[in-house]
Amino acid sequence: MLVSLLGDVADLFLPTACAGCGAERVRLRYGACERCVAALEALTPFPTAPQPPPPGMPRCVAVGPYAGELRGTLLAYKERGRHRLARPLGALLASAVARLAPKGAPVFLVPIPSTAAATRERGGDHMTRLTTHAVRRLREAGWQADLTHLLRALPKPDAASLSVAERAIAAESSLRIRPARIGKFSRRSSGKGTLVVVDDIVTTGATLAVATARIEEANMQVTGAAVLAATRRRRPSRERFATFLPQGTEKVERRPSGIPNEG
Ligand SMILES: [Zn+2]
Repeated sequence: MLVSLLGDVADLFLPTACAGCGAERVRLRYGACERCVAALEALTPFPTAPQPPPPGMPRCVAVGPYAGELRGTLLAYKERGRHRLARPLGALLASAVARLAPKGAPVFLVPIPSTAAATRERGGDHMTRLTTHAVRRLREAGWQADLTHLLRALPKPDAASLSVAERAIAAESSLRIRPARIGKFSRRSSGKGTLVVVDDIVTTGATLAVATARIEEANMQVTGAAVLAATRRRRPSRERFATFLPQGTEKVERRPSGIPNEG
């Protein structure tokens, strides 16, 4: 299965707690206990939309609500340096991408970039690491997947000091396209593939909408956005989902346990 989170080697009884539930003295795999891993594996990606959606919000698929084991492992990964969780979380992200991208055509994942300050603070760009694992998992499952850094993040003003209107303006100017990367993705290019914007959490959708706007201003087409977690101010929209599945999109096959050896 695409979302087979269990690796070959368990972190046997390391002196750290489970990243998902905080349980101690339990067997961990990539930092999470078996109960949490099972809970994560049970998540089924669903279409989601902020209420109300910001102008230009792309269609969006989330792996799960921002709660429980998903919230715990994501926070541990992003804010507490549990970098090994990139592998299981990347596999989950791949399952959301797979709901948007047909298997037959190349799919390019465009991570939402972190600012230089956030990257320094977190000891690396958490979305690049996550996306690298998602690409790897998609390839194992037969997709022609790759990562492309189409966007860069500008330094952010301190959001706490901003009004709502100022925050909207700050969000609008937070991302820039990297012109050198456009080439093959242009609508005029014959070698175009599917572009999917990827991020960890969707809340208001503002970041995903801005990313989509920047990419489309540069004459490229965004197929949708895939995220790990959606905050709860939204409802899954099953009806809408049926209308936007691209032709040839397949559900990810659940693979029996056991995944190839890898880092
Ligand atoms: Zn746990």
